[in-house]
Amino acid sequence: MTASPEPEAVQPPRLLVMKFGGTLMGSSQAIRHSASLVERSAAHGTRVVVVVSAMTGVTNGLLKLADAAEAGEIAFANDEIAIQRHRHFTAAQELGAAPDSETVRDIRELHETLRQAVYGVYLLRELTPRSRDLIVSFGERLSAPLMALALAQDGVRSHGLTGGQAGILTDSHFGSAKPLPSTYTRVKDRLEGLLNAGLTPVVAGFMGETEKGAISTLGRGGTDFSATIIGAALHADEVWAWKDVDGVMSADPRAVPRAQNIARLSYGEVMELAYFGAKVLHPLAVTPLQEHGIPLRVKSAADPDFAGTLVTAKAVTEAGQSVKAVTAIKGVSIITVSGAGILGVPEVVADLFNTLARENITLLMVSQSSSMSNVSLAVQSASAERTVAALRTPLAGRQLQVDIQEGVAVLAIVGAGMRGTKGVAARLFGALAQEDINILMISQGSSELNISVAIEERDVDSATREVHAAFGLDAAQRG
Ligand code: ADP
Ligand code: ASP
Ligand code: MG
Repeated sequence: MTASPEPEAVQPPRLLVMKFGGTLMGSSQAIRHSASLVERSAAHGTRVVVVVSAMTGVTNGLLKLADAAEAGEIAFANDEIAIQRHRHFTAAQELGAAPDSETVRDIRELHETLRQAVYGVYLLRELTPRSRDLIVSFGERLSAPLMALALAQDGVRSHGLTGGQAGILTDSHFGSAKPLPSTYTRVKDRLEGLLNAGLTPVVAGFMGETEKGAISTLGRGGTDFSATIIGAALHADEVWAWKDVDGVMSADPRAVPRAQNIARLSYGEVMELAYFGAKVLHPLAVTPLQEHGIPLRVKSAADPDFAGTLVTAKAVTEAGQSVKAVTAIKGVSIITVSGAGILGVPEVVADLFNTLARENITLLMVSQSSSMSNVSLAVQSASAERTVAALRTPLAGRQLQVDIQEGVAVLAIVGAGMRGTKGVAARLFGALAQEDINILMISQGSSELNISVAIEERDVDSATREVHAAFGLDAAQRG
C-alpha cells in the first residue's frame, strides 16, 4: 500500500512592515513612487503595514514655529503654518485629490487643529515638552492621508491611523518616549483586524500616546522605531526601512563619497552605529526586533531589487574584515572634573553619575585617570550647560574644578570582527596621526564592537575619510 502524500502545509501570506522616511514622502512624485513599492509587494499577496514620516523639512519647520509661538512671534508661526498647508495641499492636488475629497478635508482639519494648538502656546507663552510633541506630531499625521491617497490610486485599500491609534502606548518622557510593554498586544489587536479585513494600515510614525491619551514622540528619527515596534507586535516576517541610500553604508556618504553598502550587520552592530551618529536609523530601532529575531532590511527606494543591508541577530564578518563602518557625532563637549577632592574619594564619582542619571543626561564617552584625580565626560553640546548645572550639587564644598571644552566630535569604528583582533586600535591611531590629528579622549567598550575617540570637531570629516581608507573600506579599494 502506498502512503498518500502529506498535504502541503498552507503558508500564511507574508507580512511586511514598510517604513518611508521624510525624503521618500517629500513630494507627490516621491509619495507616488513609495506607494508603488508597497503595491509591488501587495500585488504578490504580501500583507503590508505602512509607516510614514513627515514630508522632509516639515518636522524642523514645526519645531521652529512652536518656538516662535512661545516667543510671541505669532505672525511668523502663522506664516510657517500657511507654507506647510500649501505644501500638503499641493501634494494632495498633484496626487489627484478633488477639492471636496476626504484627503483635502483631513488636511484642512489637521491644519486647523495645529493652528489652535500653536495659538494656545502663544497665549500662554509656554511650550512644554508635551505641547511640543503635540505640535511636532502633525508632520506625520499630515503625510499619512497623502500615502493613503497614492495607495488608493494603485488599487490598494488602506486605513490611516496615528501611532497612538495603532496601539503604541508610551511613558511620559515627551520628546524621547519609550513604548510600554502593553504596546505589543494593543498593536496586534488593532492592526490584525484591519489586515484580516484586507486593508493596508497606514500609520503615522514617530509618535505614540501616553496612558492619559496625550500624544508623545519617540525622539528624532523615531519613525524607524515605530516601524520596528509594529513589526515586533505583529511578528512580521521582516521590517523594511526604505531609504534614499543603498542601505547602511560604511560611513555617512555625505562625508565620505567612497562609502559603500554593508550587506550584513547584527543588531548589536547597528545599535553601535546609530548610537555613534549614523543618522540612517534611530538608535533604538532594532531593540524590539531582537526578542523574536525579526530581520530588518534597509533598502534603497531608487533600486528596489538591490538587497540593501540585512540586519539580523548574527554578526556576519568577511575573513580579514575587522571594521565595518566609521561614524561620527558632531557638536560634542568634554566636561572635565578635576582636583584634589576626587583623589581617593570614590563617592565623588558615584555622586556624579547618580546626578547625571537622575537628569537623564546621555554620556557619549567617559574616562577616568588612574590616579583618580580627574573624570572626563563627553556629552552633546546641547546638554553641556545642563550637565554642568546638574553637577553643581554633588561638587559643592569639594574643592573641585570643572572645565568645558567645546567644538569636539566623537569618531567611532564599529564591527564585530574587531573582537580579539590585534592591531585595530594601532591602525586607527596611526591613521589619525597621519592626518596630524590630536586625540582628546579614547574608549573601547568591553563588547569590542567599537572603539571611539574624541577629536576636534573641525578635523572630523577628514579624519573619517582617512580612517575609512585605512581600514580598506573605500569603495574602489575592495573589489
Ligand atoms: P529617513 O528619513 O528615511 O529616515 P534619514 O535622513 O533619517 O532618512 O537617514 C538617511 C540618511 O542618513 C542618508 O541620506 C545619509 O545621508 C545619512 N547617513 C549617515 N550615516 C549613514 C550611514 N552610515 N549609512 C547610510 N546613511 C547614512
Ligand atoms: N519626522 C521625524 C523627524 O524628523 C521622525 C522621522 O523622520 O523618523 O525626526
Ligand atoms: Mg530617519
